[in-house]
Amino acid sequence: MPFKPADNPKCPKCGKSVYAAEERVAGGFKWHKMCFKCGMCQKMLDSTNAAEHESELYCKNCHGRKYGPKGYGFGGGAGCLSMDSGDHLKSDAN
Ligand SMILES: [Zn+2]
Ligand SMILES: [Zn+2]
Repeated sequence: MPFKPADNPKCPKCGKSVYAAEERVAGGFKWHKMCFKCGMCQKMLDSTNAAEHESELYCKNCHGRKYGPKGYGFGGGAGCLSMDSGDHLKSDAN
C-alpha cells in the first residue's frame, strides 16, 4: 500500500497531516501554522486570537461578527468554560 494512515492528526483546513513542528492547536484540532488563519479575513492567527467553530477557524473579530456573542461573551460569560474542558491544553502539553 503506498498510502499508510498517518499517526499524525489531520489539519481540518487542508486535510493533510500535521507534524509537531508546524502544529497549532485550537478547538481540539491541530492545524498547520499556514492554515491557522481566519476563514473570513485570512488574518494569521495565534492561540490567543483564534476562535474555532465546527472545524473552521476565525479570528475573534470575525467569529463574533459571524456567530455573535450569543452563547458566550468574550469577556463576560463563563459559558464556554463548561464546554472547554481543557482538552486543548492537554493536547498542547503532549
Ligand atoms: Zn493545513
Ligand atoms: Zn477574521
